[in-house]
Amino acid sequence: MAIQVLSEQVIAQIAAGEVIERPASVVKELVENALDAGASTIHITVENGGRRLIRATDNGSGIPAAEVELAFERHATSKLRSADDLVGISTLGFRGEALASIASVSRISITTRHRDETVGTTLQIEGGIVIQRRSTGAPLGTSLTVEHLFFNTPARLKFLKAENTERRHIDTVVSRYAMAYPHIRFLLEQDGREAFRSNGGELSDVLVAALGLDIFRDMILVEGETPINDGQGYIRLSGFTSGPGTHRADRSRIVLFVNGRWIQDTGITFAVVQAYHTLLTKGRYPITVLMIDIPPEEVDVNVHPAKAEVRFRNPNAVFSAVQRAVRQAVIGHGATPLINRSQTDNLLAPLHPYTSDQMPLDLPLETTGRFRHQHADEAADPTAIPYGPSAPAQPRTLPLLRVVGQVGASYIVAEGPAGMYLVDQHAAHERVLYEQFMAEYARGTHFAQLTLASQTIELPMADARLIDEHLDLLRAVGFTLEPFGPGIFLIRSVPAILADRDPVETLHGVVEELEMGRQPAAAPIEERLIRRVCKQAAVKAGTILSLDQMQGLIRQLERCLSPHTCPHGRPTMIHLSSEQLAREFSRK
Ligand code: ADP
Ligand code: MG
Repeated sequence: MAIQVLSEQVIAQIAAGEVIERPASVVKELVENALDAGASTIHITVENGGRRLIRATDNGSGIPAAEVELAFERHATSKLRSADDLVGISTLGFRGEALASIASVSRISITTRHRDETVGTTLQIEGGIVIQRRSTGAPLGTSLTVEHLFFNTPARLKFLKAENTERRHIDTVVSRYAMAYPHIRFLLEQDGREAFRSNGGELSDVLVAALGLDIFRDMILVEGETPINDGQGYIRLSGFTSGPGTHRADRSRIVLFVNGRWIQDTGITFAVVQAYHTLLTKGRYPITVLMIDIPPEEVDVNVHPAKAEVRFRNPNAVFSAVQRAVRQAVIGHGATPLINRSQTDNLLAPLHPYTSDQMPLDLPLETTGRFRHQHADEAADPTAIPYGPSAPAQPRTLPLLRVVGQVGASYIVAEGPAGMYLVDQHAAHERVLYEQFMAEYARGTHFAQLTLASQTIELPMADARLIDEHLDLLRAVGFTLEPFGPGIFLIRSVPAILADRDPVETLHGVVEELEMGRQPAAAPIEERLIRRVCKQAAVKAGTILSLDQMQGLIRQLERCLSPHTCPHGRPTMIHLSSEQLAREFSRK
């Protein structure tokens, strides 16, 4: 092919591809514009994950009638005059690219009235070309509707994910901006349903809406102020980070804002993770929302097409300020009663008759060749669990073991013909429960237990959506959940083996598994969910067991298909052979 200059239309579409990757990018740009226009209320309406329609309505300054067309020209902006202005940008937008980009790949209609004008303007644009304009009466502010996104770029359309995925991205974008601007009222409606709302308040109010009360109760306030540039300015930090008891499998819940702009930054994310050094196990990450305020000249925001990354003049100063503030907050939080879980739990969720240390043991005991649940009178208690396979016992996979005793309330010492065994009671019980559950799941005979109290779980919208998508799968495993309001589900039943365990805690784990999705290398979701449930149900380390209970557990472990590891792959036992023992004592 000969070299040719591309047409304006193609150039515009290529440029749009940089800025507008998916429906959520449109939402982001419209929200940023509304914020830049000084709006105090922003209402976003979305249909079909943004493919059909995205509308943002704000009560900001509006656009003067004479400039409305101009707003859709590329590189047309009211926020920047010269390259020098780039040094101290205080608005979210500055390139004048967003509206032009969106307009080139969709159908737009805008109605806007500027605060100094009495009449508003309505404009219709298709594929970047104005097809209609008229004056109208309109409230102060701007309402912009984007329809049929990517209608003229089939390649982009094809790469869009399932509607639900796009919806979730939009939830995330809106809740992030709500966090960064807690005093602004945000309302997000998706397909006629309220997906997120913030009512104009403190960051803590927005976090409750965005993360759910359960998680928020475990969040710790982060604050910090560090001089930068020999005291010429300050790095100011504020936000919340999770206590060491709340963590996730990836870093996606570490959310960072620099001067009110959501950014991604592997360095600062690492600083947050570092702050938890020795407090979280490897591979676990906190939930963090951190606002970094820094003099505008200390940060270059013009380095990324979607403005999602920034460059700091002094990254090390920011890194250590973040690490220090988060570390201090987490270490010192023993002294902050505000988020002391055990205190608030009793007030807010008086649903469990037992505290965890009084929790009765549900170790199944073996009687007459079958497993029976230990509950005192099953007949009287409708929630008692007739648990365990009634089929003929599995063949043995371990030799017959005799329990000698317990060490550290965590390990069972047992003796067999080939030497000594040290069994991790939690890992072993997990293995036993897992194999029973999987066998019954395969036969479709596992038991769900109706919950007595009308217990609910409240989740951030993105998580609630995941649950919503998997209601059938969850029911198959034993969780019957009923939508009960935005982000809230009524827990109707749980897998029977959970007995008295806290279903809310288990469900948070379940959400994590769902988030990981169907990865090619990972086990099927059902299996991972069942593992979670068994982990939660299994007797904890630190629980004193009677000889009977230990013997019962060992009897069952002896007949597991894979008795040597827990479902997560950790060993259940250490075996010291008679020969090894003899060698250790120099008897040979
Ligand atoms: P940028 O935000 O980078 O300036 P945009 O393409 O997003 O570029 O917007 C172009 C211009 O249109 C803005 O500079 C602003 O003057 C005007 N504008 C866009 N959206 C709004 C809005 N919601 N309210 C008021 N003015 C707006
Ligand atoms: Mg903009």
